[in-house]
Amino acid sequence: MGKSSNGKTNSRKGSVKPASEPVSLTEASTEELLRELLVRLGEDPEREGLLRTPERVEHALQYLTKGYQEDPEELLKGALFTVSYDEMVIVKDVEMFSLCEHHMLPFFGKVHVAYIPKGKVIGLSKIPRLIDAFARRLQVQERLTTQIAECIQSAINPEGVGVVIEARHLCMMMRGVEKQHSSAVTSSMLGSFRDQQQTREEFLSLIRQKSGNGF
Ligand SMILES: [Zn+2]
Repeated sequence: MGKSSNGKTNSRKGSVKPASEPVSLTEASTEELLRELLVRLGEDPEREGLLRTPERVEHALQYLTKGYQEDPEELLKGALFTVSYDEMVIVKDVEMFSLCEHHMLPFFGKVHVAYIPKGKVIGLSKIPRLIDAFARRLQVQERLTTQIAECIQSAINPEGVGVVIEARHLCMMMRGVEKQHSSAVTSSMLGSFRDQQQTREEFLSLIRQKSGNGF
């Protein structure tokens, strides 16, 4: 932004210059980048409350994006079981926390997953882990919904899969835009959940039953 004026090399005002200033952005550590961000936001990174903030933010961001380190299909591999059960399996009200990729602000809510097995089921405890593996990345709610559904589809090839996510977006709530649209519902229906209205209706009515989560 703006033209650089006559060879000015350091635009820091008032802040203490670190002993060794990184030469380029890629050379800078994440902590250094976050310190610089604090300065640009008008803060003094040397004041007591902020001294360890770059370190904390780095750790928080690593945690919130650790899904990049996980392979969702690999995660399911050890937890597939052969069954003759062919009724709907439903896991609902799974807590979900993610970061929107447009603002890197949280969106969070509930995920409901259902499928009708065709010979194989997924260990129930793996569903929340699968959701986390996709949610702990920079996301948009629509893609998160589809990725969960498609991963289950490809892991066990069931009759059908349905995923519904109800979430609230801090980027809308905190910035005061479209407050009335700060919560969104997305769904992804595959196989019989897409083709058969009765199956879809059964799923949706099971979700609605005593969920009482304020959405
Ligand atoms: Zn956003």
